[in-house]
Amino acid sequence: MSAAKYVIPVPAQPAIAIAGSSELFPVRRIWCVGRNYEEHIKEMGHDVRDPPFFFAKPADAVVPDGTTVPYPPITKDMHHEVELVVALKSGGRNIKLADALDCIWGYGVGIDLTRRDLQIASRDMKRPWEIGKAFDASAPCGPLQPAAKIGHPSKGKIVLKCNGKVRQDGDLAQMIWNVPEVIEKLSEQVELAAGDIIMTGTPAGVAATVAGDKLECEIEGVGKLTVTIGPPAK
Ligand code: MN
Repeated sequence: MSAAKYVIPVPAQPAIAIAGSSELFPVRRIWCVGRNYEEHIKEMGHDVRDPPFFFAKPADAVVPDGTTVPYPPITKDMHHEVELVVALKSGGRNIKLADALDCIWGYGVGIDLTRRDLQIASRDMKRPWEIGKAFDASAPCGPLQPAAKIGHPSKGKIVLKCNGKVRQDGDLAQMIWNVPEVIEKLSEQVELAAGDIIMTGTPAGVAATVAGDKLECEIEGVGKLTVTIGPPAK
């Protein structure tokens, strides 16, 4: 069999840094949990009893710790959502609860940047969420820590500060659907695989962020992520 040839240069493989290492985690897909902390569901005006649902971002939406994210176009209301990121080393369909943790390579701190005005307009028109959620650089992700080193965090503070002021302050224990349950549910809907990452939902306190803001995130036992919001890209 002859080697495959591509008609354009092959795009770069999106990847996330590993804490304390020069190695990288290659990103295949980014899945996000829509609603997973009770106080955030209430602040968005929804019923906490609803089951979780999922949406996606393109793999190349990941940007590393220290990035200046250009303020994205066509929005007047970009929000920050700090989230625990789960990085998979294996996957499958219909993963059983008891097997879910075995699929995890490690964990990190991410931000699900959201063009809230466009997300809500899409929702109200029963249109897809991509324009609100899946834009360029919409998934900042700090360096991953291997589960082999830190274990599988099920509790611990999850905090986002904007210009030094605490905006989001929750605890991983407040997740309505915990990480194994998220993996179980998502694997009923799509086949998961090594390289997939899951952004597991955000605690209350989401708010607008503008050019010049410094967003400092930390999850106890997992790590940190700092990004700056910059002016729009030229
Ligand atoms: Mn989110």
